Amino acid sequence: MKDLLGGKGANLAEMNLIGVPVPPGFTITTEICTLYNQKGREAVVEMIKDDVMKSVAHIEKLTGNKFNDPSNPQLVSVRSGAPVSMPGMMDTVLNLGINDEVAETLAKKSGNPRFAWDSYRRFVQMYGDVVLGMKPTNKTDIDPFEAIIEEVKEKKGVKFDTELDVDDLKELVVRFKTAVKENTGKDFPTDAYDQLWGAIYAVFDSWNNDRAILYRRMNQIPEEYGTAVNVQAMVYGNMGNNSATGVCFSRDAGTGENLFNGEYLINAQGEDVVAGVRTPQQIMTEGSRRWAKLQGISEEERAAKYPSLEESMPECAKQLVEIQQKLEDHYHDMQDMEFTIQDGKLWLLQTRNGKRTGAAMVKIAMDLLREGAIDEKTVIKRMEPGKLDELLHPVFDKAAVKSAKVMAKGLPASPGAATGQIVFFADDAEEWASRKKKVIMVRIETSPEDLRGMSVAQGILTARGGMTSHAAVVARGMGKCCVSGAGTIKVDYKARTVEMGGKTYKEGDWISINGSTGEVYDGAVATVDPDLGGDYAAVMALAEKYSTMDVYTNADSPRDAKKARELGAHGIGLCRTEHMFFEGDRIKAMREMIIAPDEATRRVALAKLLPLQRGDFEGIFEAMDGYEVTIRLLDPPLHEFVPHQLETMRELAEQTGRTLEEVKLICDGLEEFNPMLGHRGCRLGNTYPEITEMQARAIIEAALNVKAKGVDVHPKIMVPLIGVKNEIQMQANIINETAKKVFAERGETVAYKVGTMIEIPRAALVADQIAEVVDFFSFGTNDLTQMTFGYSRDDAGKFLAIYKNLGILKEDPFQVLDQEGVGQLVEMATRKGRAANPDLNVGICGEHGGEPKSVKFCNKLKLNYVSCSPYRVPIARLAAAQAAVEAE
Ligand code: ADP
Ligand code: MG
Ligand code: MG
Repeated sequence: MKDLLGGKGANLAEMNLIGVPVPPGFTITTEICTLYNQKGREAVVEMIKDDVMKSVAHIEKLTGNKFNDPSNPQLVSVRSGAPVSMPGMMDTVLNLGINDEVAETLAKKSGNPRFAWDSYRRFVQMYGDVVLGMKPTNKTDIDPFEAIIEEVKEKKGVKFDTELDVDDLKELVVRFKTAVKENTGKDFPTDAYDQLWGAIYAVFDSWNNDRAILYRRMNQIPEEYGTAVNVQAMVYGNMGNNSATGVCFSRDAGTGENLFNGEYLINAQGEDVVAGVRTPQQIMTEGSRRWAKLQGISEEERAAKYPSLEESMPECAKQLVEIQQKLEDHYHDMQDMEFTIQDGKLWLLQTRNGKRTGAAMVKIAMDLLREGAIDEKTVIKRMEPGKLDELLHPVFDKAAVKSAKVMAKGLPASPGAATGQIVFFADDAEEWASRKKKVIMVRIETSPEDLRGMSVAQGILTARGGMTSHAAVVARGMGKCCVSGAGTIKVDYKARTVEMGGKTYKEGDWISINGSTGEVYDGAVATVDPDLGGDYAAVMALAEKYSTMDVYTNADSPRDAKKARELGAHGIGLCRTEHMFFEGDRIKAMREMIIAPDEATRRVALAKLLPLQRGDFEGIFEAMDGYEVTIRLLDPPLHEFVPHQLETMRELAEQTGRTLEEVKLICDGLEEFNPMLGHRGCRLGNTYPEITEMQARAIIEAALNVKAKGVDVHPKIMVPLIGVKNEIQMQANIINETAKKVFAERGETVAYKVGTMIEIPRAALVADQIAEVVDFFSFGTNDLTQMTFGYSRDDAGKFLAIYKNLGILKEDPFQVLDQEGVGQLVEMATRKGRAANPDLNVGICGEHGGEPKSVKFCNKLKLNYVSCSPYRVPIARLAAAQAAVEAE
């Protein structure tokens, strides 16, 4: 249903079926959108014209009014709706079908001319912006219609739209139409059907606007989905003080608390609540009191000026409470709903599974499980693994917060702790972030244009807007910290300053915002690690219960290993040894080894490295007591370790008793044209066997040492960059002989395994031969991707972004495993390897090991484990559990 009708259309139909009051309407399917894009406008109109006429007639029958009939007019809204929710992406036009005559009739019939002209001016504005393309594209330009409104308000000396009277509104309509004529050269359309078709085209066209494309890319939504068009009879929230419009959530989308909440505005229409033009009021009295407290508003003032819907329209509030429960029971998930009250009658205009923060995602799912609404497997399926990341982020240090200076207070719109430098515009946020700066976007309010900036900011602070404002909703969806509606701050876009708590902050100044309390602090406030118990732990326990594939970690130090273990890693899939050679004085011994002229000198240098390596391995083995630790032998080209500065070369010359000239010559000699394809990996170990010997010795001795202390140690020795069977055969021989020697010296043994990375396409092709020599494979999908595509990992950034924009590639293959190409190699090598060696243990240790889609692919191939960086371990665990549950 959703694929065809879009999320909005499908849910409108479903609400209607279960007896929720929904204004009548019809939906043009997403298939038509696809045809529209393929065959063009004329062909599609021809195809659907009759059906549209019939459907309009059906609305007329149900409401008793007539579309395009000034004596008894029916107005409609034209709304877009894709199969997956894309908030703010597609634009909606309300009050369609209105013109001068119709407005007069509406005024007469309703006895409320203000309502009629308010609807009319809204329509001309929306139609002008959305259909006639008058919305400004530049960040500093203002909407031409808004400019006119400001002028009229100023002339009158009023602040809010609601203070404009009928004559003002009439003036707006006239001036709006003049602006349309000036801008487009055409008269504003008066025929209702002309308006309707124009709006339908605009919805279809909006599928390909920049915002929509960006949102799809950011959220990996396929281009081919298309959007549906919903045409629906209008209900009017702007008919007077017995009318209203609002947005509500069946649970708290920020924290997950089971608390029905939402906001509304009296005498308003559609987007007014979200846009943050007026201060919206709370639906529930409890929520209203909480809100007032945060805003520093007294109970008297609150009750008088900002009563809850429960207080102002108790009947409607009661009905809304029942409906939200009914909808949640029906969908078994937290609902995000839109409603309008027309003259005391409640109508629902939308429901969908609400976007939420990572914390809310976890809590709501566990609550629903405890309530018996969903089962354990559904909990797992409901998780968006990537969102867990938010729960792992630092929170403010309690002590630091106590001494922090609170400069302003707003609403706790999206929980979290954020510290950064102030920027005011989305493109600045992007630019600063690209220079690795942490920024907080400070805005009067946000709009969909700000999306890119919001996505790279640490947090968002707005002066206007409630808990359901654009900033709040989008921030929660992104899991970004947000404080909204901090009414006391004064943002000056031109001067690029914000004034709060008596201090003027400039662009670039540091502030911290607390999305859980709504507080804004001066400067950068210290943070600490979050508590990972409660519902988070419960969800991870479920992941453990249902997953069949294990999750390991990539860790090079005892500290990382411990962290990963805390986060649920069951072993180390990749411990790189080269990082260990850079620390402190070690690099000296390493360099000495590299420039050694012969084996004997090299062995002297290696002897200095041996105890250092052994010590490192002991630390990691102890941290991973009981689990496997996979240690990769030296991998990068030697040139990476060599000094490049004259000063360091001189030191090295002194240290090794050579002349500077000699050292320079050797270093230059190590330079390679294509170092990544050069003298590295097992090629080092095979040309200088003493390096492998030293490393194998360090590993085995370390294992024996910790074993003696009672540590349950499981070392795995992994050889990088194998392409030919003989390469691994020679390395395995060196390792096994070294181990034998050490065992003999020590009179003791320890079990160990020898394996290889599969990261060169040739290795995948001859995996059966290689499997005869080894105990395990680990796919190094970074190098494997690099060599399969022939893209240099270090240079691909330049063109990959363009490739993605052009649609040549859907995703960056270094982030998401290319299942179609590289995946074939992984599949084939696993199959061939296991056929040759049934006990072969297979895992993956590239960046892809922590990427949910890639993890699911590995699960499908029945790999034994995926290995990823410590903070991605929970994500991989959940993805693995999801894969297992989905495979059932
Ligand atoms: P979005 O996807 O941006 O939320 P919507 O199609 O939901 O766009 O519409 C924008 C606003 O207009 C919402 O507040 C919605 O409730 C309101 N709206 C849409 N259709 C109608 C209608 N037929 N009557 C009254 N309000 C409507
Ligand atoms: Mg909506
Ligand atoms: Mg590699």
